[in-house]
Amino acid sequence: MVEFDWLIHYKCNFRCPYCFFSNCWNEVEKKNIDISYIKWIQAYKKIHNKYGDIKIIITGGEPTLFKNFKNLIIELNKFADVSFDTNLSINCKDLEDLVSSVDNSKLFIGASFHPGFTKIDEFMKKMLILKKYNINSRVHFVTYPVNLSIMSKVKRICLEQDFRFVPIPFRGQYKNKIYPVSFTQEEKNLIYDITNDIKDVDKKWSNVQVEQVDSKNKLCRAGQMYARVDCEGTVYPCANDFKETGGRNILGNILDKNFDMRKEPMVCSHDKCPCEFRWIVK
Ligand code: SF4
Ligand code: SF4
Repeated sequence: MVEFDWLIHYKCNFRCPYCFFSNCWNEVEKKNIDISYIKWIQAYKKIHNKYGDIKIIITGGEPTLFKNFKNLIIELNKFADVSFDTNLSINCKDLEDLVSSVDNSKLFIGASFHPGFTKIDEFMKKMLILKKYNINSRVHFVTYPVNLSIMSKVKRICLEQDFRFVPIPFRGQYKNKIYPVSFTQEEKNLIYDITNDIKDVDKKWSNVQVEQVDSKNKLCRAGQMYARVDCEGTVYPCANDFKETGGRNILGNILDKNFDMRKEPMVCSHDKCPCEFRWIVK
């Protein structure tokens, strides 16, 4: 299966201080480009025809603000495994319309609880809608240092209702320190402890992200089996290529009819791999 992380747009109705874009919303919003959902469906369908099974993981910004989001998901869901992250600010009716119209065996929703912008009761009401339609989902909680004190309470509320809960290691700057490398041992213990009684798959996913992996000169399948797609269709092998090369290391544009993934793994040129290291060839 070929996987894509698709940054659908740089738009969000929240302004979390720990967001990747917290210091540059004005800049990144200028990159938004209006491409109809039909063009995107055609592009991904072409990839599916060429490479077989595909998985599309939609992030942003807040994906549900995308124009025709419901139609986009319904159409992608006909031939691809689809997953999207959301702050669940979508209203209950629209959420129910969406999740009642899809093949739930091919949809995953990562619902992030952001304490500064959402009340837990309102959030859980929407999680119950996901449960009603058997949507594979999980609650995400960013381990921003000032939010760590309420993390256990949120986790307890989620587990009581039988929802999966995963701490997402904060990556960014807080009080002049860079995270995740600046988490104290005490903070790391808190994050690891919180994962003690969650599902193994979620535990693994969360814990490994606290650390970064040495990656220089390792053979990696990013670009071959996996890629990141920006909102204008530009395809990067991984997040580091997007960030560290200033956009030089690109594979092409997914909306281009001749777009191809790499044919084989490539040697990594980055010192550290912060998140996509599962593509390193063992
Ligand atoms: S909800 Fe997500 S995309 Fe929006 S500001 Fe918060 S972290 Fe960023
Ligand atoms: S090892 Fe990590 S940083 Fe290097 S190319 Fe692969 S995904 Fe990118």
